[in-house]
Amino acid sequence: MGGTFDPVHNGHLVAASEVGTLFGLDEVIFVPTGEPWQKVDRQVSPAEDRYLMTVIATASNPRFSVSRADIDRGGATYTIDTLRDLHRTYPDAELFFITGADALQQILSWKNAADMFELAHFIGVTRPGYVLDDDGLPDGAVTLVEVPALAISSSDCRERRGRGMPVWYLVPDGVVQYIEKRKLYRRA
Ligand code: ATP
Ligand code: MG
Repeated sequence: MGGTFDPVHNGHLVAASEVGTLFGLDEVIFVPTGEPWQKVDRQVSPAEDRYLMTVIATASNPRFSVSRADIDRGGATYTIDTLRDLHRTYPDAELFFITGADALQQILSWKNAADMFELAHFIGVTRPGYVLDDDGLPDGAVTLVEVPALAISSSDCRERRGRGMPVWYLVPDGVVQYIEKRKLYRRA
């Protein structure tokens, strides 16, 4: 499951847990992006902070782990590179790429879309406020899954912190504490 994870929130975790169970996955690997090219319009928190928040959020689940592949590669993150790296690390694994309805809508515009479908099966999860629609996607390349709806977004969490509102229960407790400790998402 790729994402900016700025910060990781309970919507990400529920989606990962649901897909992991439904597809009998051995492991869900969270892959925080390096420099997200789709988000050049805003300041993204340092990769190391996003990585650590993702580690904190997933540490207690034996089936969740975090990969540094995108962060350590450097430069802009393209999903095709993520999949190639994971394939190199786990040559015998059957790979699934978990993505939300909003990201799925952009999938065809991604670099090397056809090659991506060769490397992994794509799973599109529902997300409140976005219609899940596989129109135009190659037959059989994507499975759509309904996950329990959590109307949480990282943008909303950041914006709440900026207004001095709590993010308790939207993100795991350890992530609330990390945000405090590192003074992330504070007003300038
Ligand atoms: P931002 O608001 O900054 O875009 P985000 O909440 O969308 O952050 P991302 O890190 O961009 O979080 O998302 C990573 C992946 O998780 C994306 O594929 C996204 O669609 C999916 N996702 C995010 N929030 C939810 C949610 N509440 N339910 C289901 N999927 C989600
Ligand atoms: Mg997003």
